[in-house]
Amino acid sequence: MGPPGSGKGTQGSLLAERYGIAHIAVGDLLRREAYAGTELGRQIAETMRRGELVGDDLIGELITPAVTKAAENGGFVLDGFPRTLTQAVAARQAADLSNVDADVVVWLDVSPQELIARLSGRSAEQGRSDDTAETISRRLQVYEEATRPLLDYYSGRGLLVTIAAEKDAELVHADVVAAIESKLAS
Ligand code: AMP
Repeated sequence: MGPPGSGKGTQGSLLAERYGIAHIAVGDLLRREAYAGTELGRQIAETMRRGELVGDDLIGELITPAVTKAAENGGFVLDGFPRTLTQAVAARQAADLSNVDADVVVWLDVSPQELIARLSGRSAEQGRSDDTAETISRRLQVYEEATRPLLDYYSGRGLLVTIAAEKDAELVHADVVAAIESKLAS
């Protein structure tokens, strides 16, 4: 978990590679759907362009097949999920039903100034439609309102590790792995 621009995608792929498990990036699944040109895809694209969150029900439908398959094949890193308390509670219920549990919740901590600098840079490089100045500020606001409260939720369950994530990606990765290993050993 982490705000937009905190490096979830990069860290998610590095972790998946290291542990030989699937990397399920909810934003990527949504972008794939958005490019598919369906009516649903058009609605998703519009929601993302505005920097709002896609509805919880749809997110559940989208990730369940990917998660079920990955759970049968050794595990997964979920990147960008959950982003609301409703999603977190639904994920816990689904996990309990299938006897799956989260080992750890990694929170990538990056200052707002650094996030804005990164997202604006990414906008110039990749041209993502949700990296415009207006959308960036909305996405950060949505993160604060809807997602940040989950830190208390996961901290209360003893799953949360917080990583200072303004360093180079490889250094952040090393810290994430060290934190995961110590969590799993405890
Ligand atoms: P990301 O690639 O993780 O930055 O996600 C890009 C956009 O996809 C977000 O700004 C949301 O519009 C949407 N999105 C990604 N994950 C979720 C989620 N778990 N719940 C709702 N919307 C999401």
